[in-house]
Amino acid sequence: MYEGDIASVLISEEQIRARTAELAEEIAKRYPAGAPEGDLLLIGVLKGAVFFMTDFARALPIPSQMEFMAVSSYGSSTSSSGVVRILKDLDKDIAGRHVLIVEDIIDSGLTLSWLMRNLKTRNPASLEVVTLLRKPDAVKIDVDVRDVGFDIPNEFVVGYGLDYAERYRDLPYIGTLDPEVYGG
Ligand code: 5GP
Ligand code: MG
Ligand code: MG
Repeated sequence: MYEGDIASVLISEEQIRARTAELAEEIAKRYPAGAPEGDLLLIGVLKGAVFFMTDFARALPIPSQMEFMAVSSYGSSTSSSGVVRILKDLDKDIAGRHVLIVEDIIDSGLTLSWLMRNLKTRNPASLEVVTLLRKPDAVKIDVDVRDVGFDIPNEFVVGYGLDYAERYRDLPYIGTLDPEVYGG
């Protein structure tokens, strides 16, 4: 599939599966079952986090519920500006709930830091983040992200939810794109 477009496989399907299981085991320990705040609430950020969200939820050994948000960060197709607009908001109130944002990738961190500020104003009992991927620039942001699947080099990646112009999300692994595809 997509023959010739993918320059290299950065993280295989098996590596993603194994790391997701580790993260789920680790994170579940922090949320005691039967808490008065109710089940852990996962908030997935559409569309990139969809595959990680569903695999992570199935790997979690505790009950969780799912909500989705869609945001658009203005900027080019390969970098974000930090100006964020909500395209789809949560359907439910998160006040008093333990919330875990499930992200695909943190690059500049601008999208995430905006989202954290926005969700904090809704008074959740707790607010944490798990991201599958993190790029080097993310160290510059003030958002404390404890759980990261993989730290990756500063390259544009696709697959497992991540797109280039809406393509390649359906690849089961994370790969780098051949520069030819950018229209070079
Ligand atoms: P940030 O605001 O952290 O710079 O960027 C966050 C968003 O930019 C991600 O949710 C993702 O949609 C997009 N993004 C950042 N880096 C990459 C990348 O390497 N590949 C793809 N496909 N999207 C990326
Ligand atoms: Mg994202
Ligand atoms: Mg995208």
